[in-house]
Amino acid sequence: MSRVYNFSAGPSCLPEEVLKECAAEMLDYKGTGQSVMEMSHRSKAYKPIIENAEALVRKLMNVPDNYKVLFLQGGGSTQFAMVAQNLGIHTGKAAYIKTGVWAKKAAAEAAHLGIKVDTIASSEDKNFSYIPKVEKISGDYDYAYICFNNTIMGTHYEYIPDTGNIPLVADISSCILSEPLDVSKFGLLFAGAQKNLAPAGVTLVIIREDLITETPREGTPTMMMYKTHADAESMYNTPPCYTIYVMGKVLEWIEKTGGVEAMHKRNLEKANLFYNYLDSSDVYHATAEKGSRSLMNIPFLTKETDADKAKVINDKFVKEAAEAGLVNLAGHRLVGGMRASIYNAMTIDGVKALIAFMDKFAKENF
Ligand SMILES: *Cc1c(COP(=O)(O)O)cnc(C)c1O
Repeated sequence: MSRVYNFSAGPSCLPEEVLKECAAEMLDYKGTGQSVMEMSHRSKAYKPIIENAEALVRKLMNVPDNYKVLFLQGGGSTQFAMVAQNLGIHTGKAAYIKTGVWAKKAAAEAAHLGIKVDTIASSEDKNFSYIPKVEKISGDYDYAYICFNNTIMGTHYEYIPDTGNIPLVADISSCILSEPLDVSKFGLLFAGAQKNLAPAGVTLVIIREDLITETPREGTPTMMMYKTHADAESMYNTPPCYTIYVMGKVLEWIEKTGGVEAMHKRNLEKANLFYNYLDSSDVYHATAEKGSRSLMNIPFLTKETDADKAKVINDKFVKEAAEAGLVNLAGHRLVGGMRASIYNAMTIDGVKALIAFMDKFAKENF
């Protein structure tokens, strides 16, 4: 068996230890004679699985007691609507900072649902290559919304805007548990699991209890109310049982390897290695500006500026990298070039192998 280094932006690589444990328990989970895939979510065997996952989220992220942890479905994209429907209920106004595709989609969804969206800052002027500085947000907003790590653009907030009494909502899909984060600074955090937590299928929501309303915007379906899921402890309907089980194992792996601080240290080491290489190269360069750079998603271009020639060289890069066991390096069409996603589960050896390949490719082609 040979495994590749997978630089996919999502679904993305999982720790090998976790995959092996899942494989070992596949046919008979702890003497139950069943796979977790086959189990009732109401069974005695399953209950500890979801409880363990929640307890570990609380412990690793230091979640205060007045927050609920929910396991929902519909991906990060469904949160764009749920946030608007459940939080946009007093003035019906919300502040959005537009830092790329995901923030724009979230703002568009809120507008679609009748929220008066104020775009209070944007980095669209420079193709979203930086995070605007908005230290303070004030106004009669029901909430303020940011995308904390921009998976496509490779940017990341190095500060948390001060919103006073306005609940701050952050999409942390692609950076959850990659670094310490002060949950108490936010009203609501959410993350689709398939970037840094688990396979696709579950979305983690951490919401301050006072934001769980019984009276969301008119027409909000039962399944779209945080209250429904909070009251039923994420068991209102069948949760994505197996994905939550794998998430529990990923969380155990984070704990075993030193927790979030240690994870952050390793992520800094990996990202610094890669950025230093890009910054000192005369062939490649990072697209995200210093001071706004993601530790998780790193888009980069070659020095070829002619669009047609760049396409040829980028395609060659992606193809030859894959042949060398380095897969999913194609860039997003909005940025071009290549993108290496180096989530928690990517090893430093994977980053070193990528740099070695890039060096060889540069010598052969430039
Ligand atoms: C991937 C991603 C999403 C969309 O997640 P889905 O689960 O596919 O809906 C939203 N926000 C960010 C930052 C992402 O990286």
